[in-house]
Amino acid sequence: MSVPELLDLRHLGLERSIGCYLLETADGPALQDCGPTTCVPELKAGLAEHGLELTDVRHLLLSHIHLDHAGAAGAIVRAHPRIQVHVSAIGAPHLVDPSRLEASARRLYGSAFDELWGELAPVPEENVHIVEREAVGLECFPSPGHASHHVCFVHEDGTLYAGDAAGVRIAPSRLVLPPTPPPDIDVAAWYATIDELERRAPKRLALVHFGVFDDIGRHLGELRDRLGEWEQIVEDGATQDEFVERVHAGLGELDDDDLEAVERAMPMWQSYAGLKRWVEKVKNPGRDGASSPERAGRVRGKDAGSARIREYGRD
Ligand SMILES: [Zn+2]
Repeated sequence: MSVPELLDLRHLGLERSIGCYLLETADGPALQDCGPTTCVPELKAGLAEHGLELTDVRHLLLSHIHLDHAGAAGAIVRAHPRIQVHVSAIGAPHLVDPSRLEASARRLYGSAFDELWGELAPVPEENVHIVEREAVGLECFPSPGHASHHVCFVHEDGTLYAGDAAGVRIAPSRLVLPPTPPPDIDVAAWYATIDELERRAPKRLALVHFGVFDDIGRHLGELRDRLGEWEQIVEDGATQDEFVERVHAGLGELDDDDLEAVERAMPMWQSYAGLKRWVEKVKNPGRDGASSPERAGRVRGKDAGSARIREYGRD
């Protein structure tokens, strides 16, 4: 396997919205991200197309713990206890005890939670490995922005497994979009991450939503520009409806199927909510009296460490 093998997890029957990657590592087959529990049957079907079963998989390399990327980790490890799970230090406690993660995701998704994501099972602590600079032969590095605890993996074949750090782009479309959900998107950190992705000069970017792309410079340039555009729309005071309308006006080249996949991968109301929080409470604390310096201080304090995942959003 020299080219990344993208498995379409066909989330709730929808193609090209959530994927994960099958790759060969120094210690056997691995999955880069694993999707939500509701997608495990499709995950098994995807592995079967490559002559594999979950029992053959040795490692899960998780970019971050949002449910569309990692929700199935606990259920998979429960059924296959030899599988080792690699995740950032901030994300790890929430795999071992996902109760807070689940409570906040249930607040966000309400009654749709179970149908969208299914069970969120704990991963035994002994199966969890903190990602630092290397994991089973892949180079790793922190890639905050979309989420504070996001990490990327680089295979020696030149593939950079980007999770959500290189945005969302539904193959074969060329349009690159920045998913900016609450609570801990950090636009400034994301710019630095985009710089780092460029600096590493990968041969290809492997995106979970959705596909493998080799026009690295154009792709990352568009991600940077669009992130700035969307931040500006919100900073200029757009309402959620105005934001969604303006964003959709810029998606003209997408057909209906692409649009559906985009909205499943990154609901625009979430991107608005994340940017609004970022603009009001982090970038411009105290502006418009919306948030006193004292309150902004508390927000920043709350954002430290693992507490950042408290008000978790999917993308
Ligand atoms: Zn995410």
